[in-house]
Formats: sequence, C-alpha cells, structure tokens
Amino acid sequence: MDAKTQSLACATDAPTRAVVGRFAPTPSGRMHLGNAFSCLMAWLAARSAGGRMVMRVEDLDPRAQDRDVARQLMDDLRWLGLDWDEGPYYQSDRGELYEAAIRSLEDRGLTYPCFCTRAELHAATAPHASDGTYLYQGTCRGLGPQEVARRSALRPPATRIMVPEADDPAGMVAFRDLGYGAQREVLAQGCGDFLLRRSDGVVAYQLAVVVDDGEMGVTQVVRGRDLLGSAARQAWLARTLGYEPPEFGHVPLLVAPDGRRLSKRDRDLDLGVLREQLGDARRVVSMLASHVGLCQQGELLHADQLVERFSWDAVAAHRADIVMG
Ligand code: GLU
Repeated sequence: MDAKTQSLACATDAPTRAVVGRFAPTPSGRMHLGNAFSCLMAWLAARSAGGRMVMRVEDLDPRAQDRDVARQLMDDLRWLGLDWDEGPYYQSDRGELYEAAIRSLEDRGLTYPCFCTRAELHAATAPHASDGTYLYQGTCRGLGPQEVARRSALRPPATRIMVPEADDPAGMVAFRDLGYGAQREVLAQGCGDFLLRRSDGVVAYQLAVVVDDGEMGVTQVVRGRDLLGSAARQAWLARTLGYEPPEFGHVPLLVAPDGRRLSKRDRDLDLGVLREQLGDARRVVSMLASHVGLCQQGELLHADQLVERFSWDAVAAHRADIVMG
C-alpha cells in the first residue's frame, strides 16, 4: 500500500480512541430478531471495551417518521437489557447539518446533479447482490451547465459525489473489519459516484450516516453484514468531510432455512410476538449470543452478563449467516 492508501485505513490502526458505539435503527416497523442481534452485538462490543453508546433513529425516509414506532423500537431494546448514554437523536431533525455538509462538498466542486431515473440506473448495470446498490457509470458526470439547466427545468436532479478515478490511489480504501477481516475497495469500481441526495430532496443514507457518526464522535460501527459493502464509501466520505472514520465490525445476518434473509414478513420473529411468547428477555439474548459462541445453547443470561464474555475473535469465527429454524 502506498502512503495515500494507508491514510484511508480506518481506526483499527488507532486503537487509542475511547470507544463510542451506536444503535442506528430505522423505524419502519417492529424490531425484528435480526435487528435485535446486530444491536446486541453493537452494545456488547462497546460495553466490553468500556465504551459509550449513542442512540440515533434513522428516520430520513418520510415513510419511517413515526415517532411511536421509534419509541417502540427503543422500548424493545430496553426490554432486551440494552441501554445508551446519549440520544435519541432523530435524523429527521438534523436536515440542516446534512445540507451544510452537501454544500461544503459542492463548494469544493466534488458534486454534480444527476438526472438518471431509477429504471435507467438499473438497466445500465446489475445491482450488487448484498446491499441493493449498483455501480454508477458516471452518466451525468460530464453534463455542461446548459444541459443541466435544460434538464433541471424538466425535473429536479439528485446529487452525486465524484469518487476518485480508478487509477487514483486516493479512491482505494483498505481497512480491517472486526468481523470479516481485511477489506479493500476501489470506489470507482465498487460503487462509482454515489448519491448524497435523492431527486425527491431526501438526503441519502450514506451522507447522513457519515455526518452523524462524525458529529456524534462514533468510533465503532457494528451492524449487519448487508452493510459491509457501504463501509469503504463511508470511510472515504468521512475523510473527505474531515472526520476520522470509525472502525467497522460487521456481523452475520439471520436467514430463513431457504437462505432468504428474514424480513418483516416473518412476523413470528418480531419482538412484539417474542416478548409475549417468551416473557423472559434472557431467552432471546442467550439464543442470539449462542449463535456466535458467546454462550452455550440453553444457558440463560442477561445482556450484561455477556459483556465480559464478548470477544471479536469469537464473533469473527462465525461469519456464515445464522439460519433460524
Ligand atoms: N439504519 C440502518 C438499518 O436499520 C443501519 C444503518 C447503519 O448501521 O449504518 O438497517
């Protein structure tokens, strides 16, 4: 690795920062067992390192702005025995911060308007399997001011950030994921110029997450491996905005026996049903922890009893998705 590439390596190389972890649930429905698992891992990872936790509700999408749903998610976490030291912050309250970050990138000439429709984007390139994103081909990168004005009159554009060219080492991100080990991505080949703001004006997840993690002093991001593919982009964007990127620790997903990712359709695995059926949070917590070797099957432990048993070595030895029978 040359010097530029190394400078993008994440906080794993700088273990002196006190750990600040976070919960970042999207309130689009009742908490699901899969979310409960990533939240438990995030909490155990932070607490076992003597760290703090921040609660951030990711309700940027207008469909996810129901505060009652958010309160229910937080209640489910508390029921599981998971707590936090700061927040809740609501992304829907933080629009000005995100817009200021986008403006600063615009002022540096790093952004451009994009008029591609969703259909055009998906026709041009196959979506990545894991996180539903795609490699943007830079279709709108070279539009001149007149063409931008002409198209803007027809429909509002989205905003994208320009990632470095494929042969520019500044766009090669390398880091060690605490769960999945060494990762390396050339942004121009992995995602291309990515979205900062959608054409309907909603700030993109990638931008909001990076600004929030940066502003909240988050040093450790623990979440499902479906977002592993976003980590390089986020580390690079954090650096570009002047933040120290967090270290990342991705954890396996919970899947149905046919390999399908558990979804909201699997109602029997949401916390509403489980709380009623099982009554005792230890049964949920211990079952989840046993899948990554933190306790034996059949042991009954509270979340705080697992803190001293937590180790990334144990979690990282279980990279395969967890099949729920
Ligand atoms: N809000 C996202 C979710 O609920 C998590 C985002 C993140 O952890 O970066 O899946």
